[in-house]
Amino acid sequence: MLIPAWRARGRCAKEPQAGRLRPVFGAAVTGLPYPALMTTTGREVVHTVVDGVTVEVRRSPKRRRTVSAYRQEGRLVVLVPARMSRAEEGEWVRTMVARVAASEQRRQRTDGDLAQRALALSREYLDGRAVPSSVRWVSNQRSRWGSCTPAEGSIRLSDKLRGMPSWVVDYVLLHELAHLLQPGHGPEFWALLRGYSRLERARGYLQGVSATAGLDLSDE
Ligand SMILES: [Zn+2]
Repeated sequence: MLIPAWRARGRCAKEPQAGRLRPVFGAAVTGLPYPALMTTTGREVVHTVVDGVTVEVRRSPKRRRTVSAYRQEGRLVVLVPARMSRAEEGEWVRTMVARVAASEQRRQRTDGDLAQRALALSREYLDGRAVPSSVRWVSNQRSRWGSCTPAEGSIRLSDKLRGMPSWVVDYVLLHELAHLLQPGHGPEFWALLRGYSRLERARGYLQGVSATAGLDLSDE
């Protein structure tokens, strides 16, 4: 569902004017860690949520026809020409969210990809100390996002994670990798994950999904 953040502007319906600073309107879009709407000098930045993805729309006066999107710190930045209409912008945001999700899903598709990702994460955050013997997607996990058997070195990820942002999948993978080194959820365990900057955001994302879907899924 697209939440048209620009509706939050209410009576402030004019296009932003160059060189003028506008106050922030946007109380109507709640639950976001940022302002729902922000207008800065001549450039407008809109934050919204589309299909569970936090989107930042940037209108660029330099951009003529092309629309592009990239991931940045857990959100999807969509760049659109400043002259684009609101309706077109809404369509494009939806399209780009779907495209990026599809491409991320393709990238996360195989168990082999997951195993490679696990090794990369282990190298980056755990000095390569966690070396799983197997990493695979499973569809039979009802109460957990991920699980592992340290004695075997095996890690399983719920396929409910498929299609979620890669930084969320990375967090669950890293969580299970850390369990290969440290059982339980004591301070030593969380210390292993300290380097992962999106830790709290990923945990919040999963809690949100669990609550919204009425699932009793935990990340512990
Ligand atoms: Zn755990």
